[in-house]
Amino acid sequence: MSFEYSSTDDAPEPLEFQCPNCGNEHAQVVQRLLQIPYYNDYHMIVIFCPKCGLRKTDFANIESKGHTEYQYRVEDEEDQTTKVVRAENGIVEVPELGVKIEPVTNPQTWIRNIEGILLDIKEKVEFARDNTDDPSVKEAAKERLKQIDAVLMGKIPITIIVNDITGNSIIIPAKEEKLKVKVLSQ
Ligand SMILES: [Zn+2]
Repeated sequence: MSFEYSSTDDAPEPLEFQCPNCGNEHAQVVQRLLQIPYYNDYHMIVIFCPKCGLRKTDFANIESKGHTEYQYRVEDEEDQTTKVVRAENGIVEVPELGVKIEPVTNPQTWIRNIEGILLDIKEKVEFARDNTDDPSVKEAAKERLKQIDAVLMGKIPITIIVNDITGNSIIIPAKEEKLKVKVLSQ
């Protein structure tokens, strides 16, 4: 997890709340404002329960208008510095690579740049390639890996789509004018 956007006022006082996992009344929650360009009121929320060990990070876009879809076309090196903040309900898609990261299979929250997301996808495809006896699956994985390398070298453009029913997952664009924002419901 990157803390690149953490605010300068360090260690805000934790508040007590009831642990959703074990019911402990003395779990702690810390909310901190992240200084992210284009998003004025974006918070990181960390909860921790000393009793059952539950530790969770989530993000909150206080200015969210509800179900929102962000889209960014990655076409050059500068575009690759675009970042995605994925909150708990976020769906991250790269249609050109047939990739869809969904909360059901992966509920983790993170902040990553495009390169980091691509390297993560690459690792999963390599795992698939190395753990199959099916030659057609292996061949498809090899093709996909070539494609990902070409994207990493900036030879093939891709589209990053971030969709979140809560509006808490966002794209931090390298070029603001290229960011497409669609509010799907209030
Ligand atoms: Zn607990």
